[in-house]
Amino acid sequence: MQSVDSYLSEIIAAITPLPPEDIPLTEADGSVLAVDAVTNWALPGFDNSAMDGYAVRAADVAGASAESPVTLPVDAEIAAGDTGAYTLGPGRSLKIMTGALLPAGADAVIPVEWTDDGRQTVRIIRPASAGNAVRREGDDAKPGDLLLPAGTRLGAAQVGVLAAAGHGTVRARRRPRATVISTGNELAEPGSPLVPGRIWDSNSYMLAAAARQAGCEATRHPRLRDEPDAVLAAIEQAAATADLLMTSGGVSMGGEHDVVKAALTELGTVAFRKVAMQPGMPQGFGLIGDAPRTPIFTLPGNPVSAFVSFRLFVEPAVQALQGRQAHPDAPGQPRSALRARLTAPVTSPDGKRSFLRANLDRRSGSVTPLTGQNSHQIASLARADSLIVIPEAVTNLPAGQTVDVLELP
Ligand code: AMP
Ligand code: MG
Repeated sequence: MQSVDSYLSEIIAAITPLPPEDIPLTEADGSVLAVDAVTNWALPGFDNSAMDGYAVRAADVAGASAESPVTLPVDAEIAAGDTGAYTLGPGRSLKIMTGALLPAGADAVIPVEWTDDGRQTVRIIRPASAGNAVRREGDDAKPGDLLLPAGTRLGAAQVGVLAAAGHGTVRARRRPRATVISTGNELAEPGSPLVPGRIWDSNSYMLAAAARQAGCEATRHPRLRDEPDAVLAAIEQAAATADLLMTSGGVSMGGEHDVVKAALTELGTVAFRKVAMQPGMPQGFGLIGDAPRTPIFTLPGNPVSAFVSFRLFVEPAVQALQGRQAHPDAPGQPRSALRARLTAPVTSPDGKRSFLRANLDRRSGSVTPLTGQNSHQIASLARADSLIVIPEAVTNLPAGQTVDVLELP
């Protein structure tokens, strides 16, 4: 049996990152920066008003109060987007809107709430210090500043700052395209009637959802019957368009119905292994199709095994496809393991790393293993928010012991 760590290293070493592309900002969500993103402009780009109000010289309103308001003439109104070159004279004011360019000569903005909102003249009932309600050029970023390091996965805020800095495209690696193929004569489509002996296909839905959550665009292939020729044809066809393939089922140890193993063994580029883990011992990984060859994971059929295998092996491969493993400090990196105290004893097979479905209580730092730890028990998986990790050499742990916990997204 191969260890989890050595199997994962082998997978990561075999993955070639997708080529960087110039991706339009409209499609950049979920892509991963291939280069540092720098701003060529100050953010904000000019001094501007933080509020709707009146641009003034602070010295002119120093004595303002409710009892003795200061009244100033209003010379003009400056809206956001107005590019006119306004100058504020001493003893005067300019009405100004949020985001409008601060006129030359002004050093403060009086919020409209401190005034009578006048048009010709304005009555001001509170003083303001210099800089009040003014956003200074460059107070968020200076020209040349690093906005986001290479390796950052772009989410909403990251796409936002790139837009704010005027980038119309971004040099990045797009979301990998993942295709999921489930196999098994027993499988029926959810929503269709079932007869005894058949089950509804859960894995292809689950794995496609997991792939999307991990940053892929995911496609489900219609489920396949246990016919090696059809399975091989479907896999080869999918490899032509996908960046990553996952199959489910058909790899258990030794059965003559192991259709995926039968279909792929001839190719010689996919290796089938026993990995020292529970659940998820039977694994297969390789590269298929024409260059650039497509990584394929042949995941076990039991739903919990497939799910755990996805988290351990496929998700890191998705990150490697997007060139993320080299940048541990970039925003959006995967969360590392937590430590928490067991609320109940656990057992684990000798020589295998086991992953136990659990509920984590972050507040008390405790973790509770769920009942129902068999690999077909998807209902208990759906109740879990985390996996307890028990090392290979450990077979028993008492309550109170501290363990590693992987949070589930
Ligand atoms: P296999 O590896 O094909 O022998 O499958 C192992 C177990 O997983 C069997 O109980 C299968 O019925 C089950 N299984 C396989 N594929 C799926 C699937 N797509 N959805 C749910 N269960 C599955
Ligand atoms: Mg099967």
